[in-house]
Amino acid sequence: MGIVHLRPGHVQPVWTGHPWVFAQAIAKVDAPASAGSVVDVLDPRGNFLGRGYYSPDSAIPVRIVTRDASEPLDDALLSRRVKAAVDLRRSVLSLPDANTNGFRLIHAEGDGLPGLIVDAYGDALAAQFLTVGMKRHSDAILRALAEHSGATTIIEVASPRHQKIEGFEVKEGPVLGPAVEHLIFRERGFEWRIQPPGAPGGGGQKTGYYFDQRETRAAVEQLAKGRRVLDLYSYVGGFSLAAARGGATEVTAVDSSQFALDCAAKTAESAGLAEKIRFLRGDARKVMAQLADEGRVFDLVVLDPPKLAMGARDVDEARGMYRKLNALACRLVAPGGLLVSCSCSQAMAGGDFLRVVATGARDVQRDVTVLRLLGQPPDHLVPAAFPEGRYLKVIVARVG
Ligand code: SAH
Repeated sequence: MGIVHLRPGHVQPVWTGHPWVFAQAIAKVDAPASAGSVVDVLDPRGNFLGRGYYSPDSAIPVRIVTRDASEPLDDALLSRRVKAAVDLRRSVLSLPDANTNGFRLIHAEGDGLPGLIVDAYGDALAAQFLTVGMKRHSDAILRALAEHSGATTIIEVASPRHQKIEGFEVKEGPVLGPAVEHLIFRERGFEWRIQPPGAPGGGGQKTGYYFDQRETRAAVEQLAKGRRVLDLYSYVGGFSLAAARGGATEVTAVDSSQFALDCAAKTAESAGLAEKIRFLRGDARKVMAQLADEGRVFDLVVLDPPKLAMGARDVDEARGMYRKLNALACRLVAPGGLLVSCSCSQAMAGGDFLRVVATGARDVQRDVTVLRLLGQPPDHLVPAAFPEGRYLKVIVARVG
């Protein structure tokens, strides 16, 4: 087995439970360590710290899978982890339940399976492999997923950025069971039908839907009564539907994707909420500027842009973009109205994001006061020693 020796001064985070071994923490790697093979990680004195798959070309060459030296990293271990993830959702999180059968089934590091994301859509699963090690073992993982979750279909979805770094190919589509035309699932009682990613003629983004905003959608539903709501970067309208059902007087959904808006419109129609929601296709910044020029204001604005910082190197630039977007959004909030501002940039810490939102507000002579801080729901669980894992930051604020 390959051995990865850490440099002095780089041991503490890994020892505490941080699952990532960064390239700069590595003193040397003893052969044989090839892409996707199992390696042991040792501290400078030779003590065992953990075991994982090797990704030689990544800035994170090892993600720890087990910290038990006596536990082989084999298919049986992967299967036990899959079962534990399914059991946790069932017995602790009540997922699935009568109202929600779309959720995250495997959240990589949080479920002790770094490099693997699996979302459940009713009886179908969408799996995404992010490391060459996990991809190598995809057959065993797919079997375990079917066995423990009872899923009848599993589709694989691509992550081009990871595949490029890690050096493997993915053909999107069914990898177990029959193909499905739609991912059909419920979230908080809403029924969704979304064409899977890679479907002919266009399909959903990521694995199909963003389950990480489930609790924020519930918060927005609670706050929406009697308010005019603007849902920026709406995707398939998760926030818009929540606001409409919560009693918003009117809802405007904005996204650049026609596919997303068409899907939102269909879902709104089958939920009997279509007449309340207006859909605007366009670049959100331009639409915001236009709405401001028209003198429009809203009582509740949701701002949920795509990830703006891909990695630590992009944080400076992303700060500027978040600042600008939040300034634009604050101009559209009526005095004393509400802003729900989100960042899914893992590389930007929560305190940093709060400062950026405050700064954007001051640029347009407004003040934001935090009512609540929200984030990813518990099916997106995170090791305590892994702050980057809490990637979603949501600020619910009053804008004075
Ligand atoms: N709020 C959504 C998730 C947003 S994901 C939900 O609750 O599910 C980010 C969205 O931003 C995607 O739907 C994408 O199509 C859209 N998007 C990306 N760039 C955009 C732009 N410049 N203007 C408007 N929408 C954009």
